[in-house]
Order: sequence, then C-alpha cells, then structure tokens
Amino acid sequence: MRFDDQTVLVTGASGSIGKAIATAFAQSGARVDSIRQQNPLGRVAKPEEVPTRFCTLRLKRQNSSPVWLWTSMGLPTCGSLPVGRRSWLKNWRVDVFKRGVVVALAFVTGSFFGSIEPTFLEAVPIYQEIRSQVDSQYHSLFELYLSLHANPELSYREVKTSERIGKELESVGFQVTSNFGGYGVVGVLKNGEGPTLMIRTDLDGLPVTEETGLDYASRVRVKDDLGKEVGVMHACGHDIHMTCFVGTARLLCRLKNHWKGTLLMIGQPAEERGGGAQAMLSAGLYQKFPRPDYALALHDSANLEAGKIALREGNVLAGVESVDLTIRGVSGHGAYAYMTKDPIVLAAETIVALQTIVSREIPAIEPAVVTVGSIHGGTKHNIIPDQIQLQLTLRYYSESVRTQLLEGVERIAKGIAQAAGVPKELEPVMKVVNSDATPPTLNHPDLTRRVRRATSGMLGPESVVTIDPSMGGEDFSRFGRTAEKVPICIFWLGAVSSQRIQESRQPGGKPLPSLHSSLFAPVPDLTIKTGVQAMTAAALDLLQK
Ligand SMILES: [Zn+2]
Ligand SMILES: [Zn+2]
Repeated sequence: MRFDDQTVLVTGASGSIGKAIATAFAQSGARVDSIRQQNPLGRVAKPEEVPTRFCTLRLKRQNSSPVWLWTSMGLPTCGSLPVGRRSWLKNWRVDVFKRGVVVALAFVTGSFFGSIEPTFLEAVPIYQEIRSQVDSQYHSLFELYLSLHANPELSYREVKTSERIGKELESVGFQVTSNFGGYGVVGVLKNGEGPTLMIRTDLDGLPVTEETGLDYASRVRVKDDLGKEVGVMHACGHDIHMTCFVGTARLLCRLKNHWKGTLLMIGQPAEERGGGAQAMLSAGLYQKFPRPDYALALHDSANLEAGKIALREGNVLAGVESVDLTIRGVSGHGAYAYMTKDPIVLAAETIVALQTIVSREIPAIEPAVVTVGSIHGGTKHNIIPDQIQLQLTLRYYSESVRTQLLEGVERIAKGIAQAAGVPKELEPVMKVVNSDATPPTLNHPDLTRRVRRATSGMLGPESVVTIDPSMGGEDFSRFGRTAEKVPICIFWLGAVSSQRIQESRQPGGKPLPSLHSSLFAPVPDLTIKTGVQAMTAAALDLLQK
C-alpha cells in the first residue's frame, strides 16, 4: 500500500485492533498524523462500561481532502458490558474479532485502494507472537538481569559476563567464539540464504558505587588499574542491553521459520573505555565471521519513558577524544610561592581558558564540548607540587571541529605556561589517548527508516519518537566505519517510569539521574520487554522471508 498522498480515517476498530491497524498503516510508509481513542457514540467511555475502547486513526495526505474509511467491525465490542462478569464474551470477542477485523479491514482497504501488500496481513499476528513470547520469557530474563546487575565487571575485565553471554547464545543454538578481541563474544546462527544481521550488546560496568538502594544493587568492589578500590556498577545500563540481547536471541531462535539469513550476535567488551569495538574489528570480526549487511544496537535512556524507543537518521552520537594534559611547574614551599612556578595556579587558569575554545573559537552552530573531568596533583597544604594531571573529554561531530579542539587545548595550555614564565623544557605535555577515541555515530538513513517502520509496527507509532543528536559517544560507530561500510543503526530505549518523569518536571521536582549516575535505576520490566520486542521486530523485518 502506498499512502503517501492519501488521508484515511479508520474508525470502529477496538483499541488493540485499532492500534494494530494503525501500526500496519505506519509500516506501509504512511505518515500517521494522529491516533485517537473514543467510542462510537462520540463520548469518552468509562473503562468499566466499554471493555475495549475504540481507536481512530488519521493519516494525512497532501493537497487533497480526507478520504473516510468506515468499518463497523468493532461495533459489537462496544456497549455497556461489565468486563468482569462477561469475561467469556470478552475472550470470544478477542479470538474471533481480533483476527477477523484485521483481515476484513485489510480487504476493505485493499479493494478501496486497489492493492495491498501481504505484509499488512502478516504483520499483526507476528507482533502478537513476539509479545506473547516476550511475556513467557520475561521471568527468566528478569533473573538474568538481576544476576548481571549485581555482578558488574569493569572494562577489559568482563570475564564472567562474557562467559554468561556466550553460554546464553550457545544454549539457543548459536555457534559461539569466546575471548575474541579481549573478552568479546561472537555468536553465529545460520538460517538459510539471506542477509547477515549483526546485533551488538556491550558488556562492561563502570567504577561507580551504586547508591540506588535497590535490594539487587551491586555491592562489588575491586581495585582499579591504579590500585585504588572502587565500587562497580552497571551505571550505564549495559545489564539492560545484555538482557534485551539475550531475549532477542531467544525469540529469534523460536521464530526461526519467520526469517532467513544469518544472525551475528556479538557481546562487545570495553565500550566505556572506547576500545572494545576496535579490538573486535582488529581481531578480524568482519573477516573471520559472516560480514554483516546491517548492524543494530540499542542503548537505554535515562530520560525517555519506558515503553518507548527513540531514534534519528544521521548524526546521533558525537565523536569523542580523551586527552591527558600534564601541567608542569617548579615546586617549592607554599610560603615562598614567588620562588616557584605553581602548576596548580596554571591548571586553574588553563581550565577556565579552555572554555573559550567552544564559546569563542568554534562557530556557534557547530556542536562541541570541552570538559575537564579530572584534576590531580599535590600532596600537602604547604607544598607547591611540580605537576598537575588533567583528564579531558572533547566532543564533536565534524572533523574540522575535532582538529580545532585538539589544537586549541594544546595552544592555550602552552600559552598560559609561557605567559607565567615556565621554562620551555617544562611546558605542558598533551597526550591524546587514542585507545579511548570514538568517531561520531551516524545512523544509516535507509536502515534507520526500516527500523522505525518495524518498531512502529511492534510498539505503535506513538511509542517511537525522534530525538536530537546527543554529545554522548559510542564506539558502536566503529562498526560502520570500516572499508566494508556496514550500515548501522543504534536506538535509545526508554528506561524511566512516566510517573518519575512527571515528578521531575514539577517545580522543585527531583531531577532524573543521568546515565553513569550512582542513582540510575532503570525500570526493568517495561524496559526489557520493550527492548526485546523492538529489536526482535527490527531483526525480523531485516531478515524477512
Ligand atoms: Zn556509558
Ligand atoms: Zn553505555
């Protein structure tokens, strides 16, 4: 069906059916203008008097008046039947009418517009199938989530996590390769001739001490690379990603007769340090395993409602450079500062001056960020140290801005040292940490449109929203930046209850904890179910028979 220039109003279908029809229309490429629910009498029905509400779908067309399409198929479902006492009738209605209405409406619509694609008829039952499969898997997925959440591992140390993910893939029939590019896991499932789809999850946690107060909170403490004891937490929600990933693997195995092609499902280590994707690619991911035709990933969102996903075509996540900056001076007694070159004062001046790169050097319409995330130096009140260590993160979308940021940091740091009379041989040393760098993430437009259509079909168009690009970074970008030019798409998965979002918007409301916060606590059930449903629906669309 092509509805690009048509307006259709479908009415009379009960709530879930109407939603299914709406999503099928949305899948056909039509722009859904609005979906309204009402009963046919034109008033809002009380929940107890109308078992399922009516749904009105309006699709917009250009340069033409609306066409109305009326079906009364849903009418018998309306009335003033008390739901509880007439549950047998409700069940009967669901069985008979759900399928019946969709098929009947499809034919009415088909004859009206002359042609109809078979996916329209097939789409709805498969979504129902996915939904019921997710429901039946949920208990076990939640247990997996609890275990992953309580046992996070830092980047480059994902020993047990990768083992668990490997076992989960193996148990549903994937051929698994472990310890690939560090603790990377690669699972391959061949299911006849067809395209190859890669789905990626990340595995690592963060050096954050959890303060959510949840009874399944992580209590893990380890020594970091510098020997300092730190708490470890899935503060970026990679435990949610892994659970959705395993759920998707299970569902796609169970729904094998609905798709053909090859699934390449990978557990990627060290996302938080920006090095895991590159490590897997350097180890020969695209050479030693089937080369993907598409690659998908999801990331949970700390400010999007659970039950929704968000995505956009093109720029979605920024490029990241990590910089170590050592500001050197001449040490001495705190009382005789005039005899020193105080690197603490130089560091303070440098930090403030660095802010002028974004505010005064880069065009205002170009996105850029300079953040000094760490400053270390000194040992005692009355000693002026000989050096201070700064750690910076730089964010950008365009290559010219990236160059400008790196050059600007070095020029300003050296200029301030020079102005203070620091000898040339002690000028600041800047080191770009290449292993942490990630290029900007660009969602392939065609692939993203397909993901949007499939997920709109699954979740309903109102649950698939468009977002602005973010200055966050993701090394998932690397999977689309090799010579193979694999189209990639990452989408955001809502992880916050709508009530919590509403509360945060009230005057004086508690702000939502961000990703990486010690208070970040995704709502597990709806987030996981939505993630599995969305990813499975997208995969089935890309690997359709
Ligand atoms: Zn993160
Ligand atoms: Zn993350």
